[in-house]
Amino acid sequence: VARTLLVTRLDTIALLEDEGRPDARRDIRDGWIAIDGPAIRAVGAGAPPADFARADETIDGAGLVAIPGLVNTHHHLFQTLTRAWLPAANCSLFPWLEALYPIWARLDDEAVRLGCLIGMAELMLSGCTTTADHHYIYPERARGGLDAEVEAGREMGIRLHATRGSMSLSKKEGGLPPEAVVEPHDAILAASERAVRAHHDPARFAMCRVGLAPCSPFSVTPELMRDTAGLARRLDVTLHTHLAENAEDVAFSLARYGRRPVDSLDESGWLDARTWLAHGIHFDDGEVARLGRARVGVAHCPSSNMRLGSGIARVQALRAAGAPVGIGVDGSASNDSSNMIAECRQALLLTRVAHGAGALRVEEALRMATVEGAECLGRDDIGRIAPGFAADIALFALDGVEHAGCHDPLAALLLATTTRVHTLIVNGRVRIRGGRFVDFDLDRAIAAHRATARRLVGA
Ligand SMILES: [Zn+2]
Repeated sequence: VARTLLVTRLDTIALLEDEGRPDARRDIRDGWIAIDGPAIRAVGAGAPPADFARADETIDGAGLVAIPGLVNTHHHLFQTLTRAWLPAANCSLFPWLEALYPIWARLDDEAVRLGCLIGMAELMLSGCTTTADHHYIYPERARGGLDAEVEAGREMGIRLHATRGSMSLSKKEGGLPPEAVVEPHDAILAASERAVRAHHDPARFAMCRVGLAPCSPFSVTPELMRDTAGLARRLDVTLHTHLAENAEDVAFSLARYGRRPVDSLDESGWLDARTWLAHGIHFDDGEVARLGRARVGVAHCPSSNMRLGSGIARVQALRAAGAPVGIGVDGSASNDSSNMIAECRQALLLTRVAHGAGALRVEEALRMATVEGAECLGRDDIGRIAPGFAADIALFALDGVEHAGCHDPLAALLLATTTRVHTLIVNGRVRIRGGRFVDFDLDRAIAAHRATARRLVGA
């Protein structure tokens, strides 16, 4: 028998439903959410349904605001180990990577696991219930990195889209990464298939799915892009990669292959809804239209784009063309945080810098971080507070000093200083209560992570 959970007396439930109009929004005041096993059974206002009077667990939501659990569409969780590292603190993408590759080459499986635990904990404390991760580095002692990541996801109880990344084009062959962190073509394909067979769950409400993710045009060959797309189609899984992140990245493709990024994508068999791209900043008008028509998703990573000085993604043009645009914190070494609610704030502000205050509304930024993020990941069972959807819900208390005098709860979440989640429910299970994990020792994990991080950079 499935466990039942009732959340009552919620100050506000933000449904973020637009019925086709991006400026529309619907809230429920004095609301309740009835949860049955992993799924939401009903949502309403006033008195909850009689058959939930004896729910297995009841949460008093008085004073709390409920939003759909946030969906992070791009991360490299292992990078929490190399945050705010001075030699890479003031660089653009290529020199930043070249400074960090030799450090990451020293990773082992346990370091990856700890990096993932900390990144996932930070995400969850910011209201995130689903995260994608792009794990693309498999040095000698970290060959089991993806398995370590999946294990960390299970321990944290976060919904995980782990992508089996790869690098095959070393510096010697004209790429950017050193020999020590690239893998042979055939070994990558074999490991990718193994990862899918070991960890991918296609079922509704799945807690772990696996996608395939060659890293970027300057670290993989076009042959690997093409063969990975074929494998993804055969195994029916998603595809993910970095594209058009900065001007140098585009220049590399033009110089080496004589093609713009989206032409390369098309040529490799990637131009369809199975694919979502990280960053996607430097697309011309024709490329934006093609991506929209093909419904290719884009993970917008505003903090990283600002931190590395990469540029401003054409978020509203992509959305208008038909491409779902999710929000991603990106790897922690270029953010340097894994705070999804703060990332929504950055997305809101950065688009306004480029296009004016009316360019992106508060509720649209939250829709990108929920419904559209889910679409990027190819899911129709998460991202909404509605019957039949997964019970992934973040509850925030807005009673601290940073929200004193705030009126609208959604505007308060994004315009005021961001705050930690009060209660987090993932797949119908309470993971955080009163701002603390119910069964995870965060302080202990931080101590172990800190020691590993120091050892990794040789401090
Ligand atoms: Zn990235």
